[in-house]
Amino acid sequence: MGTTGSSFDPSLYGESQIASQDYIEGLNNARRQTSFPRTGEGMSRWVDDQVSGPTTGMCVDTREANDIGDVSTQLTNEQKEFLENEVGDPPAVGGSVTTELPDIDPASQDVYKYGYYRYNDGDRKVFGTERTIWRLKAAGKLLAQKGIVMGVGDISSRGGPTRGHAEHQQGQDVDLRLVGPDGMSKPCTVSNSSCYDREKTFEMIKTLIDVDPTKVDKILINDPTLRRQINTYYQQKTGSSRSITAYCAGHDNHVHFSWKRR
Ligand SMILES: [Zn+2]
Repeated sequence: MGTTGSSFDPSLYGESQIASQDYIEGLNNARRQTSFPRTGEGMSRWVDDQVSGPTTGMCVDTREANDIGDVSTQLTNEQKEFLENEVGDPPAVGGSVTTELPDIDPASQDVYKYGYYRYNDGDRKVFGTERTIWRLKAAGKLLAQKGIVMGVGDISSRGGPTRGHAEHQQGQDVDLRLVGPDGMSKPCTVSNSSCYDREKTFEMIKTLIDVDPTKVDKILINDPTLRRQINTYYQQKTGSSRSITAYCAGHDNHVHFSWKRR
């Protein structure tokens, strides 16, 4: 299971690729009431069924495509200085998949300082290369200033190889929840306009592009309007003509963001 281009077998992932509104409502209620149910069996199953869904042949593989010039950063000097103080300089690309994204309690005010929380800790797919973890922390810090909080799901298992995913094998891929109108990422699908805010989700993606534009590989999300916005933004920023987005089964409720290996 789980190689790029393999045919999609729904029986492996549950009947539906879209979470029912009841289920989403239940998760939101549970989260409001108590500590976030990130390790419960129901949550793990839901994540397996809905969030960490399969990739298919429709998910273009643009990895290693390299047609842009030297666009080392799109950040302002002020932003660069801010990040240098907050998260340090970007580490070298590549290397081992042994750096863990620090856990931020989603029920605490810290999420508004760090700009992210993890939502799928049960199986510990929370490791990336040093560079990838820096990317997420850097984007989180910038997004926090705009009142946006990323919901970070699977990255990779420690070491790299990650069960249940075609991608996520080298610490260079991350799954992210959609951002809601209040700036908080939450379980949601692109068809639910009451909890999916396209512009805020776009802001999250723009920031992830900005912190490391030459290394962006591809972005999977099943909202064609958002895909057009992302492609235009990326092309204007980098001078590339490459389309970096694609439709992919199972990506109605999260963004899959990949960086190149080198
Ligand atoms: Zn993914």
